[in-house]
Amino acid sequence: MKILIVEDEPKTGEYLRQGLSEAGFVVDLAPNGTDGLHLALHGDYDLVVLDVMLPGLNGWQVLKSLRGSGLHMPVLFLTARDRVEDRVKGLELGADDYLVKPFSFAELLARVRTILRRGRSGTEATTLRVADLELDLLRRRVTRAGKRIDLTAKEFGLLELLMRRHGEVLPRSLIASQVWDMNFDSDTNVIEVAVRRLRSKIDDGHDVRLIQTVRGMGYVLDDPKEG
Ligand code: CA
Repeated sequence: MKILIVEDEPKTGEYLRQGLSEAGFVVDLAPNGTDGLHLALHGDYDLVVLDVMLPGLNGWQVLKSLRGSGLHMPVLFLTARDRVEDRVKGLELGADDYLVKPFSFAELLARVRTILRRGRSGTEATTLRVADLELDLLRRRVTRAGKRIDLTAKEFGLLELLMRRHGEVLPRSLIASQVWDMNFDSDTNVIEVAVRRLRSKIDDGHDVRLIQTVRGMGYVLDDPKEG
């Protein structure tokens, strides 16, 4: 398992590098956001430990660029600021977890192991499956019960996000930033309309409804038989 640490504070960086190496990981350390992004894009990491406050690109910019480049390796944010909006921002941009500094190494290690166990790391599956719904990332093809479903590019992106995080309620703001690359504007019903169209393509004619609206919270794609 290969981990990238992006941390500008030499002492913290070295401490993490050493600790994670001793725990059996292959570890690279980048001292700023620019180098961190470059390594992350090319290094095939299973996880990135990413400081928020960095010279050059900050952690949010690094994460945004990673996700924008189609890389979905898990990211654990390190933040010195225990502000709710900072944490929400990180999670909305697609971080998997965060730790508020100062933290103990044992806590970091526990989080790293939990994230890696979730199995969203390493080699990307090329086909996502939930119940009888299949999304082929390489051929950009979606089928349900073996029947082809034609989707627009946005609908495909939306379905990919819902399937990757199936079972999780995804807020509209997260969908807006990840699929439309826009800030959520409560006046627009773009997402509502897109979800409604997608749901009708996916679920119409099937007994099991996979895409659900969770009132006041967002949307979830789930296999009811799985839970
Ligand atoms: Ca820092």
